[in-house]
Amino acid sequence: LKSLLKDPSLLETRAYIGGQWVDGEDGTFEVSNPARGDVIAEVANLSRAQVAGAITQAEAAQKGWAAWTGKERAQVLRKWFDLMMENADDLATILTAEQGKPHAEAKGEIGYGASFIEFFGEQAKRIYGETVPGHQRDKRIMVLKQPIGVAASITPWNFPNAMITRKAAPALAVGCSFVARPAKETPLSAIVMGVLAERAGIPAGVFNVVPSASASAIGKEFCENPAVRKLTFTGSTEVGRILLKQAADQVMKCSMELGGNAPFIVFDDADLDAAVEGAMMCKFRNNGQTCVCANRIYVQAGVYDAFAEKLKVAVENLNVGDGLEEGVTTGPLINAEAVEKVQEHMQDVVDNGGAILTGGKPHEKGRTFFEPTIVTGVTQDMKVATEETFGPLAPLFKFEDEDEVIAMANDTIFGLASYFYAKDLSRVYKVAEALEYGIVGVNTGIISTEVGPFGGVKQSGLGREGSHHGVEDYLEMKYICMSV
Ligand code: ADP
Repeated sequence: LKSLLKDPSLLETRAYIGGQWVDGEDGTFEVSNPARGDVIAEVANLSRAQVAGAITQAEAAQKGWAAWTGKERAQVLRKWFDLMMENADDLATILTAEQGKPHAEAKGEIGYGASFIEFFGEQAKRIYGETVPGHQRDKRIMVLKQPIGVAASITPWNFPNAMITRKAAPALAVGCSFVARPAKETPLSAIVMGVLAERAGIPAGVFNVVPSASASAIGKEFCENPAVRKLTFTGSTEVGRILLKQAADQVMKCSMELGGNAPFIVFDDADLDAAVEGAMMCKFRNNGQTCVCANRIYVQAGVYDAFAEKLKVAVENLNVGDGLEEGVTTGPLINAEAVEKVQEHMQDVVDNGGAILTGGKPHEKGRTFFEPTIVTGVTQDMKVATEETFGPLAPLFKFEDEDEVIAMANDTIFGLASYFYAKDLSRVYKVAEALEYGIVGVNTGIISTEVGPFGGVKQSGLGREGSHHGVEDYLEMKYICMSV
């Protein structure tokens, strides 16, 4: 992997704690390339005690960092952003090697990840409090917004860069320090952010990366260590529930970006070509492995066959392969279990009366590859209706009218992203308001941006990331009541 990088020193395998590069007390763990299966790095495997040490370092650094002016913090965050953009090719190569997504898509993630650092760096100057007219003649009331303290993150493998910057950028911008525990599948993309943080001049201890093969021990340390004041997690609803329970003992402030089960609705007045394009981006980006991927595609009866036919053509044009190869649009899945889940959901459709329109088998490239697949005749009692597939399976449900599809779309414990295509203005308003989701894409399949508040309702999570609201998760409000 080093030989593919313009700057080989970006490939670091040690932990970054208190401005030092450290080895793991528990040896190392292997990181492999999901497309080829070969081991690409041996990464420091930190013990729980080392993670406790990182929290101590973060705590020691936090007050000094918070004392910097917003403008000063903005300047180093800008430097961090610039370094990401200058090294975007290498960062994307590292990302593709450990995660699998095509290099162009990985580079897109680096730009997206960097955009949070740019945006929240700018926001560092705008952490406004307020003054409130007093309730008595001698009273003056002020509201301050102050950094919460040490923030700790646990992040998944599907966006190894952006899921960290989306949390670290607002935290650092407002004066928190940060301890990041990346997914064990994709630690290299996190560690390189430590390399760039050091180069950017972020003070020692403010940004720490603690790779470890053991998720649950680190999760416990984050929840039980009294120096941690904020836990921010992206991952499954199942693990989110565990962490929320653990965090309860310390009444810790939590942000949770959890699972989704996104409906993608195509009404009969939709621009079908645009809907197909949106569905392709939304369903097959990252090979279906995003929490905002369309999981259920509802198509109105009058356009069902036409939409299915157009989608089939687009799906058959995907070029599946190793993300480091030229021209590949669709990489592998993260591991063999992910392939099994896709197969299980597909088989469940077939066993219950649905049909395969295209794809439908493990891809000839083997192991972690599966053919991009469309299934038709899908109904609400099948597994795909309630569970996130997290893979390249597009299930087409048929519906008759608005009220029916709104009820079907909302019939889930999840409430992250939703999408629909329609032209009629009153329909657009009605459906956008009725969908019980934190995010609604109307006539678009891509909703992620640093300027919008990303987050879910129901069991999809707590809190929002991105936009000017994104700093609130890292701030405490203090009200000062003064008698003058
Ligand atoms: P995904 O399906 O995206 O891997 P998970 O919720 O299983 O979703 O994992 C998200 C992150 O949470 C990963 O970094 C994983 O290692 C971590 N994780 C899994 N179980 C626990 C746990 N019990 N405590 C803390 N972190 C965990």
